[in-house]
Amino acid sequence: MDRSSLRIAIIGAGPSGLATGHELLAKGFSNFTIFEKAPKPGGTWHLHTYPGLACDVWAHSYTFSYAPNPSWTANFAEQPEIETYLQRCATEFGLDPHIRADTRIVRVHFEEVRAEWSLEDDSGERFLFDVVISAMGNQHTALFPSVPGMESFEGPSWHGTQWNHDVKLEGQRVVIVGSAASAVQIVPEVAKVAGQLTVLQRTPNWIMPRGRKFYSETKRKLFRLVPPYLRMIQRGQRFLMGMVHDAATLGHKRMEDFEKRGLSYLEKVLPEGELRDALTPDTRFGCKRGLVSDDFYPALLRDNVELIASGLAEVTPTGIVTSDGRRLEADVIIYCTGYRILDFDRFEVRGRDGLDLTEAMGDSPQAHKGIARPGFPNYFFAVGPNGLVLNVPYFITVERNVESIVRLLEQKQEKGARTLEVKESLHQDYNAWMDSQFELYSWGDSSCTSYYRTDAGRAPFLFPGNFKTYAQFHDEGGIHEFDLA
Ligand SMILES: Cc1cc2nc3c(=O)[nH]c(=O)nc-3n(C[C@H](O)[C@H](O)[C@H](O)COP(=O)(O)OP(=O)(O)OC[C@H]3O[C@@H](n4cnc5c(N)ncnc54)[C@H](O)[C@@H]3O)c2cc1C
Repeated sequence: MDRSSLRIAIIGAGPSGLATGHELLAKGFSNFTIFEKAPKPGGTWHLHTYPGLACDVWAHSYTFSYAPNPSWTANFAEQPEIETYLQRCATEFGLDPHIRADTRIVRVHFEEVRAEWSLEDDSGERFLFDVVISAMGNQHTALFPSVPGMESFEGPSWHGTQWNHDVKLEGQRVVIVGSAASAVQIVPEVAKVAGQLTVLQRTPNWIMPRGRKFYSETKRKLFRLVPPYLRMIQRGQRFLMGMVHDAATLGHKRMEDFEKRGLSYLEKVLPEGELRDALTPDTRFGCKRGLVSDDFYPALLRDNVELIASGLAEVTPTGIVTSDGRRLEADVIIYCTGYRILDFDRFEVRGRDGLDLTEAMGDSPQAHKGIARPGFPNYFFAVGPNGLVLNVPYFITVERNVESIVRLLEQKQEKGARTLEVKESLHQDYNAWMDSQFELYSWGDSSCTSYYRTDAGRAPFLFPGNFKTYAQFHDEGGIHEFDLA
């Protein structure tokens, strides 16, 4: 069957949607639409604009492998630069004509008789496709705390990832709830202008110095003119990322090294005392996402900033009450309380026999090799449950996932099959193997409470192994793992 006749829908135009489009075009699949609810592509890096937003991994590792970016201005890139890079990639990859922006998909149903997927957007318009690839992003939907009184607050309040640029924070009494990935970026910026800033911290995180350095014009010119030099820098930055996986492996010496390094950084910046004690992590490295920041600890030393080592218990019309009973007046509350991870209820997906994806995933989401799920023929995840590997940059795993998906589509077309559905027994065996691996890692171990693990005790976010193992699973995969119809 002809590749260009296969109608493919991609949901989401973030990095993984763009990687999917790139791979499809490279393999001769031209009949696809990328549905994106935002006005422009870029995903996270288009949607979020909070002050201080930057990537916490090295810039040259946070790029498509086939689209190096000699123009990064520093070794850690900030949001506007990443957004520009991704939008330029969309254009250069030839994806702009395929992107249907401002289109939020709300329903995706499999019509069995015709073996078609019917997609519906929020205006009620319907679209028919043979294949759906979800690139909806797994850290997307703002998660708010669930405490009494939140609606009663009389001042402005918002989630860190939905920044309200209309409110000026100069001289205001601001409360930031949370002290993790987005808070460590937002706190130093807000501290510069707020009259008084209070940061509520439930649990301390491991924070490493970021060591942000700008690249000189000469260096960027070298990146442009001498590609092997750029590749060398990229390899170096990817190698550094690889160390994070070892550091999250229980019993690995690198975990101790990282923890020592984190503690010595803490001790170097913060004087002995209550604040330092409050910020000293009490979990193993990697149980929660490891953070990098040069300015979070120093910001907490400012006269106008206070860290309270307590959670939020209640919001009142004029402020907050902490879990340890302190009452504070506030003009503005900013929730840096994370996202709902792998929130499959973001749109309704019904597969074979009306099977509901959210129900099928339940509180223990599973997928076969991160990309497919029994009961959902011709439906794939660009990054599904356990479809992300910690020792390589996001882009590397995404590219591997979409390569496998597109290879399956090639094989499907060659065989003339209408649908592919992953075999239940293989899916179960693969997930049973993963279940036996989680406890090797600090983020998967039962002692860890973080967004990596669900209430059901499973760790559906990361792949429990390194990229070599993951890639081997994908190399061995293929159409033989699927039932054809
Ligand atoms: C604030 C923030 C900071 C982050 N910082 C880092 C970092 O420093 N380092 C790192 O490695 N990762 C970071 N991440 C994770 C980041 O999301 C990934 O690195 C990467 O951007 C994910 O790409 P994606 O394409 O899979 O998903 P996303 O970037 O989330 O893109 C998904 C796209 O799908 C669209 N979409 C969703 N639902 C629908 C729908 N129903 N209909 C149509 N379109 C839809 C969204 O609008 C979005 O454009 C961060 C995430 C957030 C939220």
